Amino acid sequence: MSNPCLACGACCAHFRVSFYWGECRSGGGCVPDEQVVQVAPSMVAMRGTESRPSRCVALLGEVGGGVRCSLYEQRSSTCREFEASWINGEHNPACDAARAAYGLPPLTPPQTPDLSPPQVA
Ligand code: SF4
Ligand code: SF4
Repeated sequence: MSNPCLACGACCAHFRVSFYWGECRSGGGCVPDEQVVQVAPSMVAMRGTESRPSRCVALLGEVGGGVRCSLYEQRSSTCREFEASWINGEHNPACDAARAAYGLPPLTPPQTPDLSPPQVA
């Protein structure tokens, strides 16, 4: 399966993308501090996702078109752990919900090849 996220980006423009502040550079992590806002005493969110309408500042491109994360190598665990449905064999209802918010259909599991023997007349 090719990466469906490259033609989507809906989750980056639908949910509040929050995580422990320690994932920021000032806390010893890799997420740039200027790209986050504090949302709770020990929690931050990607800038742009702290309120509605939500869109992460790191998301480049158009949702449902070609998109790219400008912070891909420095993204938080929240982003790393959020997987597209079926990409690793598991359904992710949150992926479906984000896509639906942009009128995109849910991803479907890969088709199992039909290995039954051909019928002989
Ligand atoms: S909503 Fe699903 S398919 Fe779209 S970018 Fe997020 S994980 Fe990928
Ligand atoms: S940091 Fe990248 S992967 Fe995470 S929400 Fe923003 S654009 Fe999406």
